[in-house]
Amino acid sequence: MSDCLFCKIVAGKIPAKIRYENDDVLIFDDIEGQAPLHCLVIPKKHIATLNDLTLDNHQLIAKMYLAVKEFAKQEGIAEQGYRTVINCGEQGGQTVYHIHLHLLSGRNLQWPPG
Ligand code: 5GP
Ligand code: ZN
Repeated sequence: MSDCLFCKIVAGKIPAKIRYENDDVLIFDDIEGQAPLHCLVIPKKHIATLNDLTLDNHQLIAKMYLAVKEFAKQEGIAEQGYRTVINCGEQGGQTVYHIHLHLLSGRNLQWPPG
């Protein structure tokens, strides 16, 4: 998707603080961090929202969570804990339409979120 912000980050056309990468998944810092650690976990392949998951692409979601597990170990936050969130659509608070998981850590996160 040529006009997608996160596809441009995957392509290296927009800079990002990349912290983890494998064949399918990229993890980089959110530009407006809401916690001491706030990263975005994305599939390199463009999928707009959770509503666009199909049997052909759903394995990417599992790969995103496996990358989270590896990354949490790498960053030393696996034991203290963290939160993962996927916003979907307007009322879900999604603003970038390339599916992504927020990974937040480093403080006591409140529930319910606002
Ligand atoms: P959403 O609101 O769609 O769930 O999350 C989109 C996230 O992308 C927001 O937390 C926002 O701060 C982040 N974001 C927006 N533009 C950029 C950017 O250019 N670079 C990075 N690294 N993050 C961005
Ligand atoms: Zn995209």
